[in-house]
Amino acid sequence: MRLSRYFLPILRETPKEAEIVSHRLMLRAGMIRQQSAGLYSWLPLGLRVLNKINRIVREEQDRSGAVEILMPTIQSADLWRESGRYDAYGKEMLRIKDRHDREMLYGPTNEEMVTDIFRSYVRSYKDLPLNLYHIQWKFRDEVRPRFGLMRGREFLMKDAYSFDLDQAGARHSYNKMFVAYLRTFARLGLKAIPMRADTGPIGGDLSHEFIILASTGESEVFCHKDYLDFDIPAADTDFDSREGLQEIIDRWTSLYAATSEMHDAAAFAAVAPEQQVSARGIEVGHIFYFGTKYSEPMGATVTGPDGVDRPVHMGSYGIGPSRLAAAIIEASHDENGIVWPEAVAPFDVAVLNLKAGDSGTDAACERIYHELTAAGRDVLYDDRDDRPGAKFATADLIGIPWQLVVGPKSLAEGKVELKRRAGGERETLSIEDAIQRLG
Ligand code: ATP
Ligand code: MG
Ligand code: MG
Ligand code: MG
Repeated sequence: MRLSRYFLPILRETPKEAEIVSHRLMLRAGMIRQQSAGLYSWLPLGLRVLNKINRIVREEQDRSGAVEILMPTIQSADLWRESGRYDAYGKEMLRIKDRHDREMLYGPTNEEMVTDIFRSYVRSYKDLPLNLYHIQWKFRDEVRPRFGLMRGREFLMKDAYSFDLDQAGARHSYNKMFVAYLRTFARLGLKAIPMRADTGPIGGDLSHEFIILASTGESEVFCHKDYLDFDIPAADTDFDSREGLQEIIDRWTSLYAATSEMHDAAAFAAVAPEQQVSARGIEVGHIFYFGTKYSEPMGATVTGPDGVDRPVHMGSYGIGPSRLAAAIIEASHDENGIVWPEAVAPFDVAVLNLKAGDSGTDAACERIYHELTAAGRDVLYDDRDDRPGAKFATADLIGIPWQLVVGPKSLAEGKVELKRRAGGERETLSIEDAIQRLG
């Protein structure tokens, strides 16, 4: 992508309305624009990050055996009356009437709808286990939308729903998602700790929130420090092995970790003081097992091997990709801007032409741009006629992991400068070596 032809509306001033660093940086870096309270447009740079997050989320859902679908954002109130949640859900639900005066709503979550899909097609235990997920916009009329995408009213959620014959099967499905979540957050460059959590309005009796520690987090959390260094399950983890997964989950739940709602001060006091972490955290994912809470009232039953019909055991599993875009910035920035982990960076490399219009510099940049692009890298080529200082500042602000600085001075010796955004290390090398290194 040539910056001269891109749409990157950088803000010079720090927006006053933004209280936390991720919100400030997303606005300044031209990633998002607020359209009204809690509603945002994704500008090109932001959308690239969101798409990269979604790709990782999707890969790990697929790896665990979940199957992707896509349900609508608008749902019928009748479906929610079947589960009894239409009245219970309260003011967070945006209620809408269509032209025929039918009551509709903008989905805050999809348990009812996916249960309806399930009951329409699945009859036998032989079709289980099943886990259906989608990545779709949700709307919750939050009392206090704030912190940009961290607490939006319209936000993206990956929500998965598992169906099993019995509780033991459902536990295995829960464990699969647990492992998928550990892998997903690690690949996003985050240290997310699973914490015992309250099940809230969704109900049920087994639930973990995945929390990343950050001073701006809205949750108060307590955990054992060792979780920060635990190994992440490998890509070749056998998701079909009940014992194997249970071992991983046992280890990941062996030490103290709880949100304030579930906090047990006495149990926490048993943790050695130097191992106690008492901090703020951001909820980036949440998994629940809730048994037959929806399948029973909604008549989602399957016939078991004994020929008897019974309601399926369900769980639901959410991740917030739009919140994650902000959470990653909270975890990874410095005074000059965002420092994207490579896996979610909007571009892999920024090529900075320090003398646009100079034929030698232009030619070297074009060559690098084409060769790296051909090698499959996402390259942002700053070909604008602008001061070097402005180009450095922009590249730092938008956080591209590698900057390749091309100017007439070093080119005279056949060299370019490579800077790593994260540590700031610089290195002078030949064009060939630079292409080799980054390609
Ligand atoms: P919170 O406690 O922050 O209000 P929640 O517990 O209501 O979140 P869940 O119903 O567990 O949220 O939804 C699953 C995931 O969706 C959350 O873990 C979070 O990542 C994301 N999410 C929820 N609400 C929002 C929001 N208002 N804006 C952005 N992401 C959200
Ligand atoms: Mg909420
Ligand atoms: Mg919560
Ligand atoms: Mg939650």
